[in-house]
Amino acid sequence: MQKDIATPVRTKEIMEKYGFSFKKSLGQNFLIDPNILRNITEHAGLTKETGVIEIGPGIGALTEHLARVAKKVVAYEIDQRLLPILADTLSPYDNVKIIHGDILKADIHQMIEHEFADVKEVMVVANLPYYVTTPIILKLLEEKLPIGGIVVMLQKEVGDRIAAKPGTKEYGSLSIAIQYYTTAETVMIVPKSVFIPQPKVDSAVIRMLLRERPAVSVKDEPFFFQVAKMAFAQRRKTLMNNLTSGLPNGKERKSDIAHVLELAGIEPSRRGETLSMNEFAALSDALFPLFG
Ligand code: SAM
Repeated sequence: MQKDIATPVRTKEIMEKYGFSFKKSLGQNFLIDPNILRNITEHAGLTKETGVIEIGPGIGALTEHLARVAKKVVAYEIDQRLLPILADTLSPYDNVKIIHGDILKADIHQMIEHEFADVKEVMVVANLPYYVTTPIILKLLEEKLPIGGIVVMLQKEVGDRIAAKPGTKEYGSLSIAIQYYTTAETVMIVPKSVFIPQPKVDSAVIRMLLRERPAVSVKDEPFFFQVAKMAFAQRRKTLMNNLTSGLPNGKERKSDIAHVLELAGIEPSRRGETLSMNEFAALSDALFPLFG
């Protein structure tokens, strides 16, 4: 087996050979610790029957670990300068395909149909570019892709919000959006020192396994997410105040809102952060006929 791309020495050699310089605007922080990569790969539970989608392979540090244990890896990389480098560093692996492009614009459904017809399960595994972590995860979930889960490295602070439980200061509409579709948990905290260049903040690896069906059943999904957003619009305000400001003609329809809260069994003086996912579902279902 070839020496890992992710050792500090080999990474430096590759960068020098190609005169590559990091683009901060593309969130380029490369991993230089093979143990961390092995751990990420293990947490994803990959087998020779798994297809993997990677986002942002960089110089291939994580890609090669994925290629060693999975059936096939398809990786999207936005930075054209990395394509010849990846062709070189990943040449020992015949089960990797690199697609040049922006993951946010990609037709992933079509790619899965085309590339992963013969795999048992598809997983997304990545060290995400930190400037777009949330839009990427939401795109993967909202498009309802046929995937088993998402295991990604991101800023620890974003990971804390994704996996947060009700009643904590990290709990918010992002926790609800993601836990609606997945069981989200932090599986690793990763120090800044294992990247070059070092990011400003520590990182975490979050594992989000797709639920067979959403955590709660609601009358209207977009309205449910809208209500959750409204409830957290101003964290220090009560639910009643946030709803009257957020719902159409809310100020004039205060008594309707009060009535709905009563129907849903929720005290109007509570704050959004204390509501469980089930309570948000009951609230949005009760509001929907009047405000949806
Ligand atoms: N996987 C490598 C590693 O772990 O060392 C690099 C990870 S680096 C944090 C993020 C990578 O995502 C970079 O290679 C960057 O060029 C790429 N990238 C940034 N924005 C992207 C986008 N919208 N679509 C696809 N790739 C993107």
